[in-house]
Amino acid sequence: MSTVTVKRSDLKSGEVLCSYCTARCCRYFALPIETPTTWEDYDHMRWYIMHGHCAIFVDEDVWFLMVYGDCKYILPDYRCGNYEDRPQICRTYTTDDCEYDNDGTYDRLFETPEQIWEYAHAVLPPKKKKRKGKSKIKAEKLQLPVVHV
Ligand code: SF4
Ligand code: SF4
Repeated sequence: MSTVTVKRSDLKSGEVLCSYCTARCCRYFALPIETPTTWEDYDHMRWYIMHGHCAIFVDEDVWFLMVYGDCKYILPDYRCGNYEDRPQICRTYTTDDCEYDNDGTYDRLFETPEQIWEYAHAVLPPKKKKRKGKSKIKAEKLQLPVVHV
């Protein structure tokens, strides 16, 4: 469901889409991450999400870690307070395909550690049970009661 008040197609000549936006693109960043293939990979992702303020999403088979957080330069009227010195990534970003009117859906989205773990259980083979290490067995043997005859 779109929450925008003005559609892109309704923009008049000379108007800028950002004037109608609450700086959606300045409130998070997302980094591509390796596609998880093992229990260990999913365990790492579970750990990322445990920290809060982040999520993992998949778009066209690419996995991303998304970190929520407002840029410190967003002004009360949602303009950039660092326009002259803004990073290159902000300079090259355009409204052509921006998130102004997207509905926040992805091919896959994981917002809680439970979700990523449930997904791991669905796609991975069962976890192998750990065999007891030699030292553990040895320690247990040492704990056997000594019978005096
Ligand atoms: S580029 Fe798009 S998402 Fe970013 S402020 Fe402008 S309209 Fe909003
Ligand atoms: S520097 Fe400006 S354009 Fe870049 S993220 Fe911050 S507020 Fe947005």
